[in-house]
Amino acid sequence: MCHTLKLGSLLNHGDLVTETEIEGLIRAHAAALQKKYTALMLTDCSPSGGVIQGMLRFTASYDGIEDVIDGAYQVDIQIPRLYPDRLPTAKEVEEKIEKSFHTNPDGTLCLGAPLAVMKAFSECPNLVGFVEKCLIPFFFSYEYKKKHGFLPFGELSHGAEGILEHYRELFRCDDDLATLGLLRILADSDYRGHYGCPCGKRARLRQCHGDQIKELFEYQSQNEYLNDYAQVMFAINRKRIQIPKAAFSKTMAKYLNVAELLRKGIIG
Ligand SMILES: [Zn+2]
Ligand SMILES: [Zn+2]
Repeated sequence: MCHTLKLGSLLNHGDLVTETEIEGLIRAHAAALQKKYTALMLTDCSPSGGVIQGMLRFTASYDGIEDVIDGAYQVDIQIPRLYPDRLPTAKEVEEKIEKSFHTNPDGTLCLGAPLAVMKAFSECPNLVGFVEKCLIPFFFSYEYKKKHGFLPFGELSHGAEGILEHYRELFRCDDDLATLGLLRILADSDYRGHYGCPCGKRARLRQCHGDQIKELFEYQSQNEYLNDYAQVMFAINRKRIQIPKAAFSKTMAKYLNVAELLRKGIIG
């Protein structure tokens, strides 16, 4: 059974859960994983995380897609210290996946925009969930693309552009700056329901994108949203669009030389 994970409340970074409990959690989740995927084994486990290695064999099909795909990939899954608040990462070790296909610079697989991956994982926040909601869809997409030439779940750009596209879709917003304005609320942890909604619809936040934003606070930390914000800002800047001060993150401003950004016309 899977319950939606309320982030921050379940594992409060050492306050509520001791190191041995985290190790126990990893061992229990790994055992459940191995029951279903017998060739995936826990090869390392300590209070600082764990490692799962072995062959992931699967048969996958998805609603609305005709293909049924069988796959077998040798994987290396790293479970971080703050699991399950933080997601595992995965590498495909036989290099069957071309590096040009959604692979991060450190060799881990790019499973999608961070928030999208976190949302998929939180439907079932354990290792079976990670493998079935995040990893198998990735391999399925790869096999599908090899066969048909396009991705089954829609093409998302890689890196900063991909994250911008993801938020535009999520907010159903076709304007880059409005999207940035909405994301700013998350990056600054600055929800004010009586303020105008940044999407441009001339409504108060609480009557417009407010509920959606409030729900999103549960999926990622402010820092992770700030990271996404920086990527989106970078993607917008590449299009040579000036960022108005109102959409500029105050938290971000602490890390950047704002006077210089103003002088260069990046913000205005
Ligand atoms: Zn990617
Ligand atoms: Zn709105």
